[in-house]
Amino acid sequence: MRSYYLGITLLAIGLGPVTAAPSNPPHWSYTSPSGPDEWGDLHDTHALCNTGTQQSPINIKANTQGDLPTLDLQYPAGPAVVKHNGHTLEVTLKTAGYMTLPSGTYDFVQMHFHAPAEMQIEGHKYPFSAHLVHRDAAGNLAVIALLFNVGEKNKTLAPLFSNMPRHEGDSVALNNLDLKSLFPAKQDYFTFMGSLTTPPCTEGVRWQVLKVPGTISKKQLNDFKQLFPMNARPIQPTNDRPVKLGG
Ligand SMILES: [Zn+2]
Repeated sequence: MRSYYLGITLLAIGLGPVTAAPSNPPHWSYTSPSGPDEWGDLHDTHALCNTGTQQSPINIKANTQGDLPTLDLQYPAGPAVVKHNGHTLEVTLKTAGYMTLPSGTYDFVQMHFHAPAEMQIEGHKYPFSAHLVHRDAAGNLAVIALLFNVGEKNKTLAPLFSNMPRHEGDSVALNNLDLKSLFPAKQDYFTFMGSLTTPPCTEGVRWQVLKVPGTISKKQLNDFKQLFPMNARPIQPTNDRPVKLGG
């Protein structure tokens, strides 16, 4: 039960629906004096942002033989809500769905975006990414990261980009969102243990980063950056973590 409640609390602070947030959550941002270099000093609960050894994002270089199954993604298409949470746009689904990994089954919690992308692959930088956050029954988190280059307009995200909530706390309803259509046909992925990329930088997060990027148009990227000019944490040391490639 302990880790279950821990998971809920983490989501309340860093990611998900606010059900048990502290009364005065410390303000953080992507620029000094409350930016990534200062996150660890802003509040006791953020200490891992400074002292953690398995932090995200990383520059991904596969270093361990992987024998990984295909991702089992079960996201039913349906209505969604897009919320401006002050740091990014956060998407929740009316019928959330789930995914299954060798470590278990994880319910979909929310998807949000970063510009530029946080994860790099072999030093390659991408202008945009989506993080799909999941949680298992014990409260453990697993995130899928999708990377995007600038190119063809992204049709799945078009209704979101064309009607974004523009102020913190605002929400916009979408009639239909099909998360699976955001995924590339070839679903090779890197996997490793890491952290939340926002305070409190909690570790024990299982990351799956899709190797093949999708696209969004220049206009879609610019529209997002009008609201969030830069919302990516810098690359963190990999240290001696195993990074596997599978699919
Ligand atoms: Zn994220």
